[in-house]
Amino acid sequence: MSYTPPSAEQVFALKVSAGIDELAATDRFAAAGEGMVEAIVEGIGQFAAGEFAPLEQIGDREGARLENGIVRLPAGYAEAYQAYVKQGWNAVAGPEEFGGQGLPFSLAVCVMENLGAANMAFSLLPMLTVGAIDALEKHGSADQKAMYLAKLVSGEWPGTMNLTEPQAGSDVGALRTSATPILEGEHAGKYRIKGTKIFITWGEHELADNIIHLVLARTPGAPAGSRGISLFIVPKYLVDADGKIGPRNDLKVASLEHKMGIHASPTCVMSYGDNDACVGELIGAENEGLKAMFTMMNSARINVGAQGVEVAEAAWQRARAYAQDRVQSARAGSPDKHPVPIAEHPDVRRMLLRMRALTEAARALLYYTCGQVDRGALGDEAAKLRADLLVPLIKAWGTDVGCEVASLGVQIHGGMGFIEETGAAQHYRNARIAPIYEGTNGIQAADLVTRKLQMDQGATLAALMAEIARDAAEEPALAALAQDCAGIARWMLSDASLDDRLAGSVPFCTMCAVAVAGWCMLVQARAAGAQGGALSATKPVTARFVLDHIVPEAIGLKASATAGAALFYALDAVALTS
Ligand SMILES: Cc1cc2nc3c(=O)[nH]c(=O)nc-3n(C[C@H](O)[C@H](O)[C@H](O)COP(=O)(O)OP(=O)(O)OC[C@H]3O[C@@H](n4cnc5c(N)ncnc54)[C@H](O)[C@@H]3O)c2cc1C
Repeated sequence: MSYTPPSAEQVFALKVSAGIDELAATDRFAAAGEGMVEAIVEGIGQFAAGEFAPLEQIGDREGARLENGIVRLPAGYAEAYQAYVKQGWNAVAGPEEFGGQGLPFSLAVCVMENLGAANMAFSLLPMLTVGAIDALEKHGSADQKAMYLAKLVSGEWPGTMNLTEPQAGSDVGALRTSATPILEGEHAGKYRIKGTKIFITWGEHELADNIIHLVLARTPGAPAGSRGISLFIVPKYLVDADGKIGPRNDLKVASLEHKMGIHASPTCVMSYGDNDACVGELIGAENEGLKAMFTMMNSARINVGAQGVEVAEAAWQRARAYAQDRVQSARAGSPDKHPVPIAEHPDVRRMLLRMRALTEAARALLYYTCGQVDRGALGDEAAKLRADLLVPLIKAWGTDVGCEVASLGVQIHGGMGFIEETGAAQHYRNARIAPIYEGTNGIQAADLVTRKLQMDQGATLAALMAEIARDAAEEPALAALAQDCAGIARWMLSDASLDDRLAGSVPFCTMCAVAVAGWCMLVQARAAGAQGGALSATKPVTARFVLDHIVPEAIGLKASATAGAALFYALDAVALTS
């Protein structure tokens, strides 16, 4: 089955939820006019369908393999990546002085959305480069930018993110990789990197001339925990002063993980400095790696949230085709006793509509978040705070939606969903990683109820929920959900203990995400009605489903969000697990 880009839906979400026309009215984003938006959305859709999608199933079957220290991808991957770089897709939102087009982040996310829906495992290669560009642009020195940014922006040299170590997963501050200053010789002023990183996505491959690893490490005497980590550029091949590729750096892939999904994405155990000769350059100041890391992680978290939309779109496209094709049973209560396509049965209708509505709602939340990021980049401080608040919502709920929709996709296929040939199972297997990496969804929810609520004593959340409740005056369920979110936030900030807050964090995070996504769907339904065309028929139905089914379910989470932690500790750890 091929991928059909949902271009009309994406342009609509960019206009209505990201507010791209408003962004194009500013000097900085003046190039993002209507013609450019349509050209990018349609162009990347065709590229993804033509170049990335045909490689998806072979990537799943054959996967990445490690042969004598070299990571091999199935035939076609190298050519498709070169075409991606040549056609300039990696450079959409990159800084103009380094060869980028300087367009809004919202459009770069749309590029990712298409690549990921066509081939999620492959799309991780460009996705991680986005985080590396952000970190270097905001925290790198002028020399570092001159040396690396243009190549990262074009995608000729992709980037990676190296945080995780065996003992340091969610607790990044526990990392042990060391960085020792080099005092003399040709690399004086740089650092010797030594340590092992695990789970490094696209950590090694032959699809590009160089790979720019961003590595978190600890300098001698650094404070314990996350206050003592620093960020380093560690290229696979050292680069000379003229930007030419030099000798190989002392780093290597030790092994590849065998995974449940995304088989074409090499997940590497990376070994740095086996011969005490791995050279890295510090980004920013020592011990300020956490700041740079958060820059890197914010865009990556939004792009992982986008993966939920991507996998949901792909699963939905496969399921709708099957539901029209597969014939079983006559329609209940019909005088016509001929069997009908399963899409005619009420429960399959429920699943199809739920898949479509959830996918559109997560996409609406995604582009609303991107629009706030773009406004933040223009200096709008309130939008910047709102974007910060929305990041855990889109990351956690977007990826939960990906899993639910992919699971419904399997269900619609019946037994054939469990059989690999249909491809429905592949989406389900792929979807499962997104709630885990880039900070598990539990960690996202913890971030929401601690850092994000505390950053301004809940003012940003309160303002957002008040806006939703006002705008939803004629939608009592949505208004009630927004008021519940505001009330729970007040309780969390006043009476609730830290344990109680954390115990209710995941259901609270879902409630907030559904409130914002439901609001975005309401706004989209109004805009579609005013615009006419195909979306004016479908959008009111999908929006209605979100408002009448998903929003009430989220209201039902209030009990769990406010129940507190006492029951979770009623049994001690031994009794609980006996
Ligand atoms: C396929 C794949 C690709 C990856 N790519 C990269 C990459 O490119 N770069 C990179 O650096 N890392 C990468 N990772 C690592 C990934 O980010 C981590 O797996 C993830 O952050 C979780 O860490 P962990 O696996 O150690 O789980 P743990 O931290 O051990 O967590 C286990 C469980 O405990 C929960 N938990 C842990 N601590 C807390 C807490 N304080 N409060 C509440 N709950 C908690 C978690 O939510 C989770 O449910 C990748 C992982 C995979 C599987």
